[in-house]
Amino acid sequence: MDQLTVLIQELNRRIPQLELREQEPMAAHTTFRIGGPARLMALPRSRKEAMAAVRAARELDITPFFLGNGSDLLVSDKGYGGFVLKTTGLDDVREVCHRLRAESGIPLARLAMAAWGRGLTGLEFAHGIPGTLGGGVTMNAGAYGGELVQVLTSVTFLNEAGEVVTLPVEECALTYRHSLFTDHPEYLILEAEFELAQGVPSIIKIKMDELAQKRRSKQPLELPSAGSTFKRPEGYFAAALIEECGLKGVGVGGAQVSEKHAGFVVNRGGATADDVRRLMELVQSTVLRETGVALEPEVKFLGF
Ligand SMILES: Cc1cc2nc3c(=O)[nH]c(=O)nc-3n(C[C@H](O)[C@H](O)[C@H](O)COP(=O)(O)OP(=O)(O)OC[C@H]3O[C@@H](n4cnc5c(N)ncnc54)[C@H](O)[C@@H]3O)c2cc1C
Repeated sequence: MDQLTVLIQELNRRIPQLELREQEPMAAHTTFRIGGPARLMALPRSRKEAMAAVRAARELDITPFFLGNGSDLLVSDKGYGGFVLKTTGLDDVREVCHRLRAESGIPLARLAMAAWGRGLTGLEFAHGIPGTLGGGVTMNAGAYGGELVQVLTSVTFLNEAGEVVTLPVEECALTYRHSLFTDHPEYLILEAEFELAQGVPSIIKIKMDELAQKRRSKQPLELPSAGSTFKRPEGYFAAALIEECGLKGVGVGGAQVSEKHAGFVVNRGGATADDVRRLMELVQSTVLRETGVALEPEVKFLGF
């Protein structure tokens, strides 16, 4: 019997209510709509279930992959032979002593709406980012001049020893699309706390609507993607470099450099992970040859 089969038995015994899926198609859990099956996926509905599942896996030397909304993720066509724990069932948000505290699986859009509903300003930029708070903290998600690091005060996570740790944001190493959690994929982010300023609800709403309109006009939201494919290289914009090299609209199989925004690779129908990888490599090698700039993927890879 392999370790994952033992894990299934253990999870059924210890947490009978935990939802488990075997051979779960990852294409259904990524915004690219690409990816073969995950051997085992758990969908906890509470922090307690999530922590118990992670601890059970660790006892068997299995390191789970933590999945939020899969909006920054390319999963291989053959899938992932390990254990995926999807956090979207952990979605509580509350106000504690004038601070907003939210669980890691909450969509950033809902978090921004919760802040607006309480007349709190500072999270408007996050409204259009299609990820969860956990993925957002991991990537220090940001847009239009805002970044999570500007409004976070602390992050609570489960470490590799199974302990719950809370660190002030200053100790979470959040920089551009990087954090303590990109360096430690074994940490499960459980919760984060925000300090937001008191604002005027109608003005907060206007700002969110303006940013949504900007996104709709500039980004290929009508096609599946994982957002910006590459990080912004120091002193440049990835999309401008890609366009300058004549790559806008170039495709490999079903994957294409978006005609609307060259920073996005889109799935124009039936794209495989292999198509996306080959297109990304083509873009990287062409941009390096033509401009001398090395593009680093922003998108994370699983199962390759
Ligand atoms: C159309 C579109 C527009 C986008 N626009 C933006 C933008 O403006 N700004 C921006 O920054 N990004 C943007 N993105 C990218 C993406 O939405 C963000 O990076 C988002 O924060 C990822 O969150 P997620 O829940 O989808 O993470 P996932 O893709 O599920 O995971 C990303 C990484 O975070 C880790 N992770 C997720 N949850 C946890 C957790 N609880 N604990 C530990 N690790 C965890 C995963 O293991 C993985 O390494 C865009 C994507 C799309 C598709």
